[in-house]
Amino acid sequence: MTSRADIDVLVVGSGAAGLSAAVSAARSGARAALATKTSLQASNSAKAQGGIQAAMGADDTPEVHAADVMRSSHETASPELVAVLTGDAPGAIGWLEELGVAFTRENGSYRLARCGGASRHRLLQVGDRTGHAITKALREAYLAAPGAALERHRLVSLEPVAAGWRATFATAEGTVQVDAGAVVLAAGGRCYAEAQARGELSTNHPNATGEVTRVALDAGAEARDLDALQYHPNGGAWPPTMQGYSIPETTRSYGAVLLNAEGEEFTDSLGPRDEVAQAIFDEVAAGRGVETPDGRPAVWLDTTRIAEADAAVSLPYMLRRYRGAGIDPLTEKIATYPVLHYQNGGLVIDTDAETTLEGVFACGEIAGGTHGQNRMMGNSLLECVVFGRRAGRAALARARA
Ligand SMILES: Cc1cc2nc3c(=O)[nH]c(=O)nc-3n(C[C@H](O)[C@H](O)[C@H](O)COP(=O)(O)OP(=O)(O)OC[C@H]3O[C@@H](n4cnc5c(N)ncnc54)[C@H](O)[C@@H]3O)c2cc1C
Repeated sequence: MTSRADIDVLVVGSGAAGLSAAVSAARSGARAALATKTSLQASNSAKAQGGIQAAMGADDTPEVHAADVMRSSHETASPELVAVLTGDAPGAIGWLEELGVAFTRENGSYRLARCGGASRHRLLQVGDRTGHAITKALREAYLAAPGAALERHRLVSLEPVAAGWRATFATAEGTVQVDAGAVVLAAGGRCYAEAQARGELSTNHPNATGEVTRVALDAGAEARDLDALQYHPNGGAWPPTMQGYSIPETTRSYGAVLLNAEGEEFTDSLGPRDEVAQAIFDEVAAGRGVETPDGRPAVWLDTTRIAEADAAVSLPYMLRRYRGAGIDPLTEKIATYPVLHYQNGGLVIDTDAETTLEGVFACGEIAGGTHGQNRMMGNSLLECVVFGRRAGRAALARARA
């Protein structure tokens, strides 16, 4: 067993939330360490395509954004956390730009899309590889600072010690213990493991297995809405290589609509995610769905309604993936069905992202409250950055208190 001490802030997880916390802590002067289960690049965050919400349009405000979040959550989200999420959003975008993220622009301002449940155009994008761009910039910023990067460190337990917290990791070389003044848990959700257990498809990275939530619960932390798992309305259903692929919601922002076997629209394609997913389940159950060649249920997403110019700017990765699989979404409809995507609930946090355990912080998908029981697209990357930044700073303050 080896051990490391003299760490102010230990961050667990290298997605957008963990990287934001680690950069924020390191830039605030912390002796920081970032531990992650496999490689620094491996995360759900890096797979995010669609974009990140922030009230940047002339007709928009953080208050309007907050009202959309509350409505989409069916009033189950925490109003205090939502006010922080939407109030800090424009500053978070500015911070990402300082770190080198180049959001897509048109006519001198941001190209903003409308996402499901939103009353305004509010979704900033970097083409359709927004998560890749954000995590790359954050990773480079962290690696340029003096903090330690501990790859292939899987957190297995957390216990209080006199100086803060002791984290125990499993590594190929054996057990490693790290003592830190404060810990930030940013290990994401559990939808990959949950889908495997249910025999379903998931959009998630194989590292999304949820054991760190269990570690926190075992240490005494509280959680909320843990059973509220989100289906992405538009998983790829055909061809086989696209099964489980999350067709970006921006396809619907740019004009694609859902159709049943008769070619009829059966729901508001830009409704809140839970309502759209449920409408698809119901349509198929009523016998108005279509069947893929391998016998899976599906409906059509009519992507032929997307203008070629919009697709070229905002959906190039999606087009490449489908065309590579032999289907051109601009000339033929694609088969889609909901897939397990996101853990809405998680560890209870306050507005500084501190859990109910003093000195243990949580941010990103592992935390609960910001989305209540139903998240809007584009608010997860935002949550990672907003609460990651807060967690990094507040964890340092706690460690030095
Ligand atoms: C395909 C896809 C598309 C998406 N598109 C969007 C979008 O357009 N906009 C949006 O806002 N959201 C989107 N989301 C959701 C969003 O990307 C994620 O919810 C968010 O990025 C989660 O970030 P995170 O940092 O909390 O967790 P993750 O990015 O999942 O990172 C978790 C990290 O913790 C590590 N880890 C896990 N267990 C352990 C352990 N035991 N010990 C140490 N490390 C551990 C993992 O390896 C990983 O590095 C999408 C998600 C997917 C899967």
